[in-house]
Amino acid sequence: LARLGDIGEFGFLSRILPRLSPGPDTVVGPGQDCAAIRAARRPLLLTVDALVEGVHFKPGWLSARQIGRKSFLVNASDIAAMGGRPRVCLVSLGVPPSFPARDLFALQAGIVAAARAAKTTVVGGNLTRSAQLWVSVTLVAEAPKRIVTRQAARRGDRIYVTGTLGDAALGVRRLRAGRLGRASRAIARFREPLPRLRAGRLLVESGIASAMIDVSDGLVQDLGHICAESRVGARIDAHRVPLSKTYRAVLGAGDRLALHGGEDYELLCTVAERNVAQLERRRSQLGCPITCIGEITAGRGVRVVDARGELLTLRSKGHDHFSSPD
Ligand SMILES: [Mg+2]
Repeated sequence: LARLGDIGEFGFLSRILPRLSPGPDTVVGPGQDCAAIRAARRPLLLTVDALVEGVHFKPGWLSARQIGRKSFLVNASDIAAMGGRPRVCLVSLGVPPSFPARDLFALQAGIVAAARAAKTTVVGGNLTRSAQLWVSVTLVAEAPKRIVTRQAARRGDRIYVTGTLGDAALGVRRLRAGRLGRASRAIARFREPLPRLRAGRLLVESGIASAMIDVSDGLVQDLGHICAESRVGARIDAHRVPLSKTYRAVLGAGDRLALHGGEDYELLCTVAERNVAQLERRRSQLGCPITCIGEITAGRGVRVVDARGELLTLRSKGHDHFSSPD
């Protein structure tokens, strides 16, 4: 079985490059010193994010193809959070020489397939030797008509979240324990995030969302970013947080993992009261469920309350690469 060290950087590239077809924005595709793309009518959104073996996943948690797919999808989620339309991406790979060449082709194919499904072209990349596997994707998107950030939530706005929360964190917990049990759907959510591109675009372009973020590090932590940047507080009604059937069956509805577990890649947005009716009217166009889970308040920081309005104290708010335990 060939290892990357056997075929080398240029052996890999000579087999990959012919598989990368140009897209509508491509002027010069991969294989030159730079790619060239046509400028868009609107501003561009740019984001970059890496998946690192041993940090984001352990060996055996993801297939090579899933690593590729996920490295694209987590970036697409950031674009969704600002309502953008993904256009082109760059891929940087760090790979140990012992890595099987076949797996690297599968990884690359995973990126290209996920990109293509989001109408995105891979226009360039880089391959470097590394002690452990990492994949970094830079994604460029066309901005929507208006720009929505984390900075314009106002007191009285409702807080909404798409999909369900806590599944990916449950999946990771099971992968760590080596007991998959009934949690295979939760593990699938960890392996294959569902970036809410359609919902994000609609929530921004319609004017419904006043502030938005994707939930990547945990609900309380990510809502905390909106609060800090908008200089407001927030109340989450824990019993309204949407949970999947799998989550309810495995952990029970009272479990707090959904409040702080990471990697949901759902959208969290605030909606002014005057726009709530429009959100209700357009709910079916979002392509995913959306649930009101609380309200922006005066003050600072995120409070979580139960169905009786009692304050819950949380041990964790979410994931931090440099202060969270492994
Ligand atoms: Mg984000």
